[in-house]
Amino acid sequence: MALGPLPASTSPNGTFVQWTRYGSPISENTTMTGTMEYVSHWIADVSWDANHGVGGVTWRDEPLVARQQIGRLPPNPTWGTTNRFAGWWTTPAASGGTEITAQGVITLAQTRFYARWVPIRTLTFNAGTGATWTANPPAGWTRTSSTQLTRNVDVGTAWNTITWPNASHVSRANHTPTIPGRPVGIVPATGGQTSWTVTWAVTTPPVTITWNAQGGVNPASWTRPPNTPLGTLPTPAWGTNRDFRGWNTTDGRNAMGAAVTADTRPIGNTTYWARWHDYGSGRRHRRNWYQSPTIRIQQTHFDAPWQGALGTAMHNWNVSATPVRVDFATSSRNTAVVMPISPNVPGRLGSFEALDQNWSLLLENQFRIRLYSHSVADYAARNGFSATNVAVSVWTHEIGHALGLRDGEIGQPLGGGRNNSIMNYDRDRDDVRTPQPFDRQSVNWIYR
Ligand SMILES: [Zn+2]
Repeated sequence: MALGPLPASTSPNGTFVQWTRYGSPISENTTMTGTMEYVSHWIADVSWDANHGVGGVTWRDEPLVARQQIGRLPPNPTWGTTNRFAGWWTTPAASGGTEITAQGVITLAQTRFYARWVPIRTLTFNAGTGATWTANPPAGWTRTSSTQLTRNVDVGTAWNTITWPNASHVSRANHTPTIPGRPVGIVPATGGQTSWTVTWAVTTPPVTITWNAQGGVNPASWTRPPNTPLGTLPTPAWGTNRDFRGWNTTDGRNAMGAAVTADTRPIGNTTYWARWHDYGSGRRHRRNWYQSPTIRIQQTHFDAPWQGALGTAMHNWNVSATPVRVDFATSSRNTAVVMPISPNVPGRLGSFEALDQNWSLLLENQFRIRLYSHSVADYAARNGFSATNVAVSVWTHEIGHALGLRDGEIGQPLGGGRNNSIMNYDRDRDDVRTPQPFDRQSVNWIYR
């Protein structure tokens, strides 16, 4: 027999749809056979309560049928930055109840579910000015800037379960980090430390000290802590004809520098330069450590031919393909003079005299060079030479002394004969008036 008119069913939690049997709808025309159970079929009014947060939704018109799986969940709600969403639960309380998943089944007994929130605290870890976080941040941390990591931690988490940044994660040039330690206990709901900053100690890399013997045997480089007195200095070796005169802060070509002593304290990598006094080893030159290739001579007032010859001699040096530069300067203490009376030295045409070998601050030795005008004139007349040529030869020779060249010895086998050097006594003073290749070689060696 047919069932006939079906009873109504109501519920505050849903909308009745129909009666079913084994999932299939029945109607008043359905034939009843024996004892049968019929199931009411509902569309539930399912509310997702954000529970203080923002979000949540009520599903009414969805085909979300009671007694069937939910199938999907609404988007996660949010609640500021101090609470972490921890799923949908059957109770609004912070604990207890049952979590609702997409596989859960709707029942009319409960159609309201609640967001669960876990309070969190945000930890910040600062590498500090000038430092950076290297490679990847440690697990659980997020790099929010080049110098800052952050991490959200559930309140109540044990500190010792949190991976902590360490020195391998930070770097800063010439500094060593000290990583703050984490607290003990648990992350508290309020209060307590949540921000840390790495502290840095300046490291002091050692400095390398290079000893340049300027032609001698370079001592081995030193490695020392910075800003530390050098102590006993090395002594370079270089043959038998030179005296080692100490170490200097420059090579002496363009600036005098300063003497290096046992108390000198190099800050960074440094080169020190040897100074030598050369007694001559067949190269016929010597250099006092204070000498410079830049020479100034006070403008003098003597007869024009002699002064013109001096200017020519200076020019001869200035164009000699050497570092030498000789100029007139009224402020110079170096002088050139013409003496009309020859000294009581047979054959002497000029002389060089260093007056103050300690006067080194102006990069010039103080000297006086003289030309004995009567001797030059007599010598030129006797040999049929030009007196001007002889004067130029003499001036060029004397300037050679100022530059550190010494007299060539008569008869010394120098190669190239008696005219191979402006410094030779027995040169041809009519022809040899300019620095010769040997002289240029010597001067270039001195001021190398
Ligand atoms: Zn001489």
